[in-house]
Amino acid sequence: MALSRRDFLKVSTGAGVGTALGGLAALGVSLTPALARAQELRIKDAATIPSICPYCSVGCATLIHVKDGELINIEGDPRSPHNEGTLCPKGAAIYQLHRNPNRPTKVMHRKPGAREWEVVDLDWAMDRVAQLVKETRDETFIERLPDGTLVNMTPAIFLLGGATLDNEFNHVAQKFGRGLGIVAIENQARI
Ligand code: SF4
Repeated sequence: MALSRRDFLKVSTGAGVGTALGGLAALGVSLTPALARAQELRIKDAATIPSICPYCSVGCATLIHVKDGELINIEGDPRSPHNEGTLCPKGAAIYQLHRNPNRPTKVMHRKPGAREWEVVDLDWAMDRVAQLVKETRDETFIERLPDGTLVNMTPAIFLLGGATLDNEFNHVAQKFGRGLGIVAIENQARI
């Protein structure tokens, strides 16, 4: 289906309170009756909020359905010119960021050599991480290169960020990491 930028903006403006089904119909997308019916039942009477997938720089458009204050569904926005209602497998699982009974909700720790994970106190875990970072940095810190160049860095710690973290957190994490002398930093904060 060819969708111009003008069409997208026109439908986006008019479908703010509509459902994904409404958006599809407005664009003339043909769904089979069975599929349309199933979709309608699933999100019937739900509020629809346009949003964006947080996982990568493609920035696929999504529709979030909320009913009685509860998130009930997230799917691709068919009005978007670049993802046209689709999401990759990772994006299709965004709902599980919010609801997933298998997601750990406590701090888990596996001692060196142990086979089992155990629940630990958050304060203990944070102290443990701080202690290991300090020890590692002290043992590996390089102040100057052999030619005398001042570098103040450690090559032994890697800082990895994620796209689901917000700009403010990533800003602080960058300052924190570079302040420690970490140079191996990867952070998917491009959106
Ligand atoms: S749905 Fe997939 S491709 Fe699209 S923004 Fe999310 S992770 Fe990236």
